Formats: sequence, structure tokens, C-alpha cells
Amino acid sequence: MDCIKITNLEVFAHHGVFPEENQNGQNFYINAELYLSTRQAGLSDDLLKSVHYGEVCRLINKHLKEHTYKLLETAAEQVSIEIFKAFPLIEKLKLEICKPHAPIPLPFENVSVTIERGWQKAYIALGSNLGDKKAYMENAIKAMKERDDIRVKRVSSFLETKPYGGVEQEDFLNGVMEIDTLLSPEELLGLLQSLEKEAGRERKVHWGPRTLDLDILFYEDQIIATENLNVPHPDMKNRDFVLKPMVEIAPYLVHPVYRKTITEMLKEL
Ligand code: ATP
Ligand code: CA
Ligand code: CA
Repeated sequence: MDCIKITNLEVFAHHGVFPEENQNGQNFYINAELYLSTRQAGLSDDLLKSVHYGEVCRLINKHLKEHTYKLLETAAEQVSIEIFKAFPLIEKLKLEICKPHAPIPLPFENVSVTIERGWQKAYIALGSNLGDKKAYMENAIKAMKERDDIRVKRVSSFLETKPYGGVEQEDFLNGVMEIDTLLSPEELLGLLQSLEKEAGRERKVHWGPRTLDLDILFYEDQIIATENLNVPHPDMKNRDFVLKPMVEIAPYLVHPVYRKTITEMLKEL
């Protein structure tokens, strides 16, 4: 991907664990790599189609001067959040904050923290079979749209389906959505669970009735198998209520484990 690089931007600021550092301040040096496509700007010579590096430097300078953090980790994380908020064209970034005058009583040249952050694509399944099903699902989508760390890209139509898993209960409404997010898979799961909770979901019977169920189907092409999280969602190949709406919004997405497109998976089901 194309890259705009800022090297050794000098900012006088007050970050540090020691009170003297917060009082006296010192110079910090920032290196930033901004990844985006510069193709359109390159063809049109139009700054609006790229990212104004002067503005990025101003933002970094302003944020680091106006806040006082104990940790370089926090300074880097917060600056990165602000950059993504202000510059929607940036897809990924690498940010290093150097502190060559850190209070270390030994000879050293520099100390720094580097982070890499970026927008990640994920697919989420939505389901409901209690109360105003459509409203529960639409409220969850609305709540996601309002966040700075999520961009809702596509939402499928909702389809009514018969309950799955052998528990006697009302019909389901199901759909899927595509998002870009700055959240990690675990953070995304936490957000989905808090949205389920807000919708008044109670966990009683497994596969039983629920106001709202939000599952992570895919997160980039990552394969995750931990106690709390299985991605891609392991049962999707058996569920037409997941594959059908997925075909609507991402028919040629390739499943990273089965190496088949969603369309092929639905056909086999
Ligand atoms: P299923 O996952 O088979 O559709 P369910 O959605 O009814 O069943 P829940 O009771 O909603 O199951 O969730 C049980 C647990 O599943 C959650 O606490 C969560 O930690 C875990 N889980 C594992 N993988 C995922 C995933 N990809 N998306 C959401 N939850 C997941
Ligand atoms: Ca589920
Ligand atoms: Ca679930």
C-alpha cells in the first residue's frame, strides 16, 4: 500500500510516570507511517483525495501538548485514535513515539514505543426471535453506526427462518452485516455482548429464545480458536439463515478454512 511518512516530528510535552516529567516537560520525537491509496491524488493532483501531512503533524502536536499521559503506550494509542477519526482515508498506520531524554540513569540513545493499527473487515450475524425482532436488530446496527471505531459497510435484508437446534420457540429474523472496525476480535465480541445485554437478552437455554444474538462470522481471514471465541463461526456451513444473507452481501468471499466461496458453501448445503 502507498505510504506517507513523517520522520522525527519534535513535540515538547509532559508525558511520564514521574511528577518532575509532568512539571518540566521534555522533547518527544514522532515517526508516523500513514498507509492509504494515493492513486487518485496522484492522477488528479488534488490534495483533497489524499491526506494533508501538515494537518496530521498539527494534530499530533496538539494532542500530545494538550494531554499528559504517564505512558508512551497511552500517548501512541490516543494519538492513533484521533488520527483515524480525523482522516478517514487512512487505512492503517504505524506510529512511533521516541523519548530520548527519558529518566533512565544509564547511558542510552533512545527509547520508544511503536504501534500498528488499522481498519479490519468483519462480518457479523444478527438474529432475534422475541418481541419486536426487527427493532432489536435495527437498534444494534444504529448503535454500531454511531461509533468512531466501526464503519457499517453493508447490511443484508432480514429473512424469517424456522428455529434451529430443536428448542420449541418463535420464528427467527436473521441477517448479516459487513463492517470495518478498529476493534480487535475480543473487543468486538465484548461490544456485541454489551449490545445483546442492552437489548435485554437473558441466557437461559442454549439456542433458546433471545431478543438479540450477535455472532462474529469472519474477522479478516483470521482463524481464532480460544475459549471465548471461534472465528470463522464454526457452524456457519450448516446454517442457511447465515449463508443466504451472506451470499447477498459477499457472494465471493472465500472461507479461510474451507477455501470455498460463500456461494459454494450455500450450494453444498
Ligand atoms: P451459536 O454460537 O452456535 O450460534 P449461540 O449464539 O446461541 O450459539 P451464545 O449463547 O450467544 O451462543 O454464545 C455463547 C458463547 O459463544 C459466547 O459467550 C461467546 O464467548 C462464544 N463465542 C465463540 N465464538 C463466537 C463468535 N464467533 N461470535 C460470538 N460468540 C462466540
Ligand atoms: Ca448464534
Ligand atoms: Ca451468540
